[in-house]
Amino acid sequence: MNVCHHLDDATLLRYASGGLDEAFSTVVASHIAMCDECRHAARSAEAIGGYLLEDGEPEVLSTGAFDRIMERLDSASAPAAEPVAPEPTGDVPLPLRRFVGHSLDAVSWKTVAPGVRKHAIALPSGSASSLYMLSIAPGKAVPEHGHGGDEMTLILSGAYQDALGRFGPGDIADLDEHVEHQPKVEPGEPCICLVATEAPTRFKGLFSRLLQPLVGI
Ligand SMILES: [Zn+2]
Repeated sequence: MNVCHHLDDATLLRYASGGLDEAFSTVVASHIAMCDECRHAARSAEAIGGYLLEDGEPEVLSTGAFDRIMERLDSASAPAAEPVAPEPTGDVPLPLRRFVGHSLDAVSWKTVAPGVRKHAIALPSGSASSLYMLSIAPGKAVPEHGHGGDEMTLILSGAYQDALGRFGPGDIADLDEHVEHQPKVEPGEPCICLVATEAPTRFKGLFSRLLQPLVGI
């Protein structure tokens, strides 16, 4: 899979240290299942987590600390075992299958706006964030919006383009709060994505913007 847009280091470290809730963990784990590069990086991040626990250092790393620790790991550690390859059958990443099964074709969609279908994923009560899938029609544009550091989107099939480039299967939009973008789904097939959003919704994320023409926000 030709993945171009990856998790950032801070997200990988939070994931590896157990600092993400179930919704965000599922999106991160699903990307890792689709991305060799981040699978290797996650393995290193777990090792870093071990270092931090041993040293008793705070969770937040200073600038450059990640690279320094990576150098230590590269020079010190024995070759890691080969990562387990994702299960070949089905087009749903393994970490998502316990919620929606193994086939995107089998997902039950609910139309929520013209050209937009949604499948909400029930998480155990107490989860701070929501997790859902969207299927957005070919050619549909999403009004420009920013991210508050509170939304993460993984493309499962289809593709969209925005100022940051093309996002196709396996790509993740793990954007910081200053990024404003205006995705447009490519023609030909719907763009199906997995989204984690912090609750309560702040009316500026991808899904809210798709609803904008309906509710006038
Ligand atoms: Zn990646």
